[in-house]
Amino acid sequence: MSGFPASHYCNKCHSDTPHSEVLVTKPSSYDTDTSILGRVKLFAHTFINGGHYYNMDRYVTCKICGNRQLDNKGDEFE
Ligand SMILES: [Zn+2]
Repeated sequence: MSGFPASHYCNKCHSDTPHSEVLVTKPSSYDTDTSILGRVKLFAHTFINGGHYYNMDRYVTCKICGNRQLDNKGDEFE
């Protein structure tokens, strides 16, 4: 699994800076299920897939300047 904080290149700072990761769920069949059980299933689904965040967009937020970037390359922690 990924470690925190993750270091990424920041376009604003023009250097590698500490970033926090944010996972945002893409629209999926789970979105119609807002029950707690549905959320648990979504979490379990994500977990079972071994950290491959299917149906998730991964953003990284620079802790220095707050710049948020979409980071779906998905190969940095594999
Ligand atoms: Zn920055």
